[in-house]
Amino acid sequence: MTIAFDNSYARLPGQFYTRLPPTPVRAPALIALNADLARELGIDPGYLRSDAGLAVLAGNAVPEGAEPLAQVYAGHQFGGWSPRLGDGRAILLGEVVGTDGRRRDIQLKGAGRTPYSRSGDGRAWLGPVLREYLVSEAMHAMGIPTTRALAAVTTGEDVHRETRYPGAVLTRVAASHIRVGTFQYFASRGDLVGLRALTDHAIARHYPGAEGALGLLKGVIAAQARLIAQWMGVGFIHGVMNTDNMGIAGETIDYGPCAFMDSYHPSTVYSSIDQFGRYAYDKQADIAVWNLAQLASALLPLIDADETRAIDRATKALHAFPDLFRDEWLAVFRAKIGLAGAEDDDPALIHRLLDCMAVTGADFTNTFRALARGTARDQFTAAAAFDQWENDWRARLTRDGQNAKARKALMNAANPAVIPRNHRMEEAIQAGLSGDFGTFDRLLNIATQPFVETMENSDFRNPPAQGEEVRQTFCGT
Ligand code: AMP
Ligand code: MG
Repeated sequence: MTIAFDNSYARLPGQFYTRLPPTPVRAPALIALNADLARELGIDPGYLRSDAGLAVLAGNAVPEGAEPLAQVYAGHQFGGWSPRLGDGRAILLGEVVGTDGRRRDIQLKGAGRTPYSRSGDGRAWLGPVLREYLVSEAMHAMGIPTTRALAAVTTGEDVHRETRYPGAVLTRVAASHIRVGTFQYFASRGDLVGLRALTDHAIARHYPGAEGALGLLKGVIAAQARLIAQWMGVGFIHGVMNTDNMGIAGETIDYGPCAFMDSYHPSTVYSSIDQFGRYAYDKQADIAVWNLAQLASALLPLIDADETRAIDRATKALHAFPDLFRDEWLAVFRAKIGLAGAEDDDPALIHRLLDCMAVTGADFTNTFRALARGTARDQFTAAAAFDQWENDWRARLTRDGQNAKARKALMNAANPAVIPRNHRMEEAIQAGLSGDFGTFDRLLNIATQPFVETMENSDFRNPPAQGEEVRQTFCGT
């Protein structure tokens, strides 16, 4: 076997998925291959680059050992219940245990219709594939748990959206694709056998120390509190935090209309379909709780046979989220402003900086990065409020007592110098549409070394100039 598959999900009962192969495409061509990730998975990158490998990445051949399937799930989309969703444009090829001992899914996204496609065509176009590749690899490079991109190919076929676009397939790697919505699917149908099998599978795979369904719930709550805090720290807005887009393993999953903020404002929204700001930057922790409450509801029958007791236990677990999140958030932002120790007034100090940034719309990434350099003042059009803050911050740093060198190292490891900015991703997609992937390659290379300032990335550190700003992002469909 060229890929050493070991498919634990395919061993679950039949009601978890529909087995079917990807739909072949006309003329596949490789856009990008993540050779480091391939090696981590124990796959020879040379093989993936060969014609045989390309056929696998395009869905034209099913490799030995793969057991292709589409997973079923349900979910709340913008608060509205959908009893049956599922992989409508994705096929799970199977799982591999990497050289690091970690089990991971290999999935083709954009691999053709499935029984869960509803009115969709099962395909993806080039834009969302390049965006997901860039954002997920940048997130990984920033140390934020995420699904990864193993490869991207074009299909040689058109995909019809508002207009015709080149089709593409992303090979996505994830700890698993089990979502809050997967639990909701079995619970809503009253399939307790399925729910129990899924819970056992998720515990064994992601939370081996967890005791039962309540332990699983607690594990997911803690992982999400940490994940959302990390998003907040890099100005990331997921954009479509539906329960079917929240993974159980604590990875960022389903990059659709997501974006990194340029200019800071807490209520920033980019997604074109998020009319009421449900998934705005500063709503993400609340939405996570809402989603986790759906997970808790789904797990109730397994938490305790007595419903009242089950609700009581689940509620207690959910009530831990705000404190967990607050601690994670504080840890992230303390590091961002260079604090090693803790004082009670730190949250207020951090919020004062953020408020100051919001008033003048300071660039999120560049303001934090500039703090260590001592040039953050330049980021503010009206600097008086910042000057006041900076005095208080300096006094706080003195009390913190770290030496300047250690503090700078801490800050430069917590504050990325470069993020894949929207206008840059747009530029890479536009170039890709005319067959030039050099722009994408360059941006990928820069976005995956986020903590260094180099000559090469200096242009990429600039916020969009007037007229370059991207104010809206679109779903990956
Ligand atoms: P999303 O909001 O992108 O996570 O997708 C929500 C649901 O729509 C999932 O069940 C997807 O599988 C499905 N879906 C999205 N795009 C397509 C497509 N092009 N064809 C079929 N199903 C799709
Ligand atoms: Mg999704």
